[in-house]
Amino acid sequence: MGKALIIGCGGVASVVIHKCCQNSEVFEEIMIASRTKSKCDKLKDKLSGGKTKISTAQVNADNVDELIALINSFKPDIVINVALPYQDLTIMDACLACKVDYLDTANYEPEDTAKFEYSWQWAYRERFEKAGITAVLGCGFDPGVTGVFTAYAAKHYFDEINYLDILDCNAGDHGYPFATNFNPEINIREVSANGSYIEDGKWVETKPMEIKRVYNFPEIGEKDMYLLHHEELESLAINIKGIKRIRFFMTFGQSYLTHLKCLENVGMTSIKPINYNGMEIVPLQFLKAVLPDPASLGPRTVGKTNIGCIMQGKKDGKDVKYYVYNVCDHQECYKEVESQAISYTTGVPAMIGAMMVLTGKWKKPGVYNVEEFDPDPFMDALNKWGLPWKETFDPELVD
Ligand code: NDP
Repeated sequence: MGKALIIGCGGVASVVIHKCCQNSEVFEEIMIASRTKSKCDKLKDKLSGGKTKISTAQVNADNVDELIALINSFKPDIVINVALPYQDLTIMDACLACKVDYLDTANYEPEDTAKFEYSWQWAYRERFEKAGITAVLGCGFDPGVTGVFTAYAAKHYFDEINYLDILDCNAGDHGYPFATNFNPEINIREVSANGSYIEDGKWVETKPMEIKRVYNFPEIGEKDMYLLHHEELESLAINIKGIKRIRFFMTFGQSYLTHLKCLENVGMTSIKPINYNGMEIVPLQFLKAVLPDPASLGPRTVGKTNIGCIMQGKKDGKDVKYYVYNVCDHQECYKEVESQAISYTTGVPAMIGAMMVLTGKWKKPGVYNVEEFDPDPFMDALNKWGLPWKETFDPELVD
């Protein structure tokens, strides 16, 4: 059916590539292009026996001209951006120049400021509309499936959703005192930023990890979770009718938090460049270089993740409570695609989102967050492609 150009070849990309190859009816041909070509070639060698035709290329995705040349030579139907958030705008620029659809899993961040907002990418709306191409923003799990879950609930079970809590629990154990489950630089920027949530149309800011709750997660048990800022709060508060309060919580173990605090206290999480032996280095980037590569955690991570949305609102004048979530097992993911569940739960939705665009189900000119599309075909695809979901109308609520 179509051709996809996949940019990036890290933990998440590896899952996207495996899943595209499993879905060769839709992904007849893929090109894997990244900064380090040897990683792309390694995956190509491993997966080349199947029906999906695979080629590879080296690309610096910070360079729009290089991207344009690559897109013009391969002529993909969609570009799946699973490099880093820093590359979102250059890749969108290249898609615009070549009139090709675009999908990513994280909002643009400038490299020198840990600022999480959609304004930069939403500014492309009119240009994408005029060019007749679709951009799907934030199509991982969170953001991504959490937006689809909410849109599904809004479509089928609510007239209005007033309270939304997104709960992200990773109960996996990799045996290291400290490691991050996806790109360490991006992960630490996110969790060391101030927390925030939306109440009555206004952002309320908190200190990092200031608000803690304990929640009894289905199939996992009780875990400490902390309120974080998360990018989907911004789009969901606008796109979902009736929202009064929206919050995001993520679980962290004590060892992770103690190490993070210590690293922060000594300045290792700073993104301000320093001079070291006549060379400019960014402490957080140096830290990334000494931490375990998230892609190496797969074989050693055991346990499960549970990510979902708890909603309260009204249908036909009556109060409704609803919880929809997915539970994913790290070892099962490893057996299937040699990745841990964090990369898996991000990569599978990215493949599904690209499939939605290629099959025309999510094809409309402009720049959209996932909750602005029909959730039903995506919800079906989650069940089919490895992320089955469960629902209950009697959930434990978060106070
Ligand atoms: P990794 O660091 O494992 O992989 C990033 C890849 O991008 C690497 O292959 C890297 O190349 C490549 N890359 C970086 N810069 C460039 C560049 N300038 N040009 C070309 N390629 C480049 O990250 P992850 O796989 O863990 O994360 C990928 C994305 O997924 C991130 O944007 C992250 O924020 C997002 N994410 C989203 C989640 C969600 O639920 N929505 C959850 C988890 C992650 P090299 O190999 O040379 O380093």
